[in-house]
Amino acid sequence: MLGRLARYLRILGFSVIYEHDGIDDNRIVEICRNNNYVLITRDRLLSQRYHPSVLIGSTEIGDQIVEFTRKYKPDRKSLFLRCTVCNGKLIPIKLEDGDYRNRMNPHRCNVCGKIYWSGTHTTNIIEYLEKLGVWNEDL
Ligand SMILES: [Zn+2]
Repeated sequence: MLGRLARYLRILGFSVIYEHDGIDDNRIVEICRNNNYVLITRDRLLSQRYHPSVLIGSTEIGDQIVEFTRKYKPDRKSLFLRCTVCNGKLIPIKLEDGDYRNRMNPHRCNVCGKIYWSGTHTTNIIEYLEKLGVWNEDL
């Protein structure tokens, strides 16, 4: 399962469709081919059936993020522009008067409506990604 990786890649700004249980390999390859997607999988045989693909070897989330960003460099300007839940785009909004989150750069997903704002959680995510070195050129 690469659900956590999918969420982190969305945080990094990649457009990620996440499919799991109940979809067969032929269908996955077809979806990727029809949409020019990069296939991300832990299944070696599946990764050999389609290119471009990224074979994820680790089960640890930090290592998985590094494995992907070694091949596909994230753009720092794309950070926090996608909904981690549904892959929608985040649009700047103004909440009701008096809502403390108005001072914290609030955004709403244009698909599912989830509201995001900046805070210690976003600072922690940035520090974590910097520690992993995802924006380093020499990875
Ligand atoms: Zn959403």
